[in-house]
Amino acid sequence: MADAADSSDNPPENMDVPGQGLTREEAFRRILDGHWRYLQNERQSIQTTQEDRQRHAQGQYPFAAILGCADSRVSPEVIFDQGQGDLFVVRVAGNVAGDYEQASLEYAVQNLGVKLIIVMGHEHCGAVKAALGQQEVPGAIGKLLQEIFPAVAKARTQNGDLLDNAVRCNVCHTVDTLLANSACFREAISDGNLRLIGLVYDLKSGDLDFQRTEG
Ligand SMILES: [Zn+2]
Repeated sequence: MADAADSSDNPPENMDVPGQGLTREEAFRRILDGHWRYLQNERQSIQTTQEDRQRHAQGQYPFAAILGCADSRVSPEVIFDQGQGDLFVVRVAGNVAGDYEQASLEYAVQNLGVKLIIVMGHEHCGAVKAALGQQEVPGAIGKLLQEIFPAVAKARTQNGDLLDNAVRCNVCHTVDTLLANSACFREAISDGNLRLIGLVYDLKSGDLDFQRTEG
């Protein structure tokens, strides 16, 4: 993959392209502002015009990448009040970081110039709950649950609600896995070009519980 500096996938100069060119701090602020609008029931990113589609047809210029759970209640575009083209979203049950998820996020950083990655777990995650069951599960679901087992093992050493702790541990484990397996992310963070955040979304309140911030 070409790095961002070599990429010809830059927005045309005459186009207003939200998000591109933001620092990691500015990208994070944009996420927080959108989440605040969501909490206040003042979402702006609801309509898509024909002009928007024309713009999207010329390329994608997201300002943040999200690794979230496939759960139907945790759509990042809704929770962070962002529109089509704003977020590069990777969703998989239990927000685990296998090879394909890591590769997708590396593409966002290297080729799209994204400077913010958010790993978003959530309260009462069914995948994490299944991993707590401990029984052997065959097939593809069993493989996915194995990715969550290290977080479950750590959570069992902690006081408090086991599922809540496992959800938090799973987010931190995913952040650790991405850092351990991707030189791309480590270098971008140390160069000041990437922030990697791990958080848990509360289904009832809509609040964000920040677990990790790297960069
Ligand atoms: Zn989930």
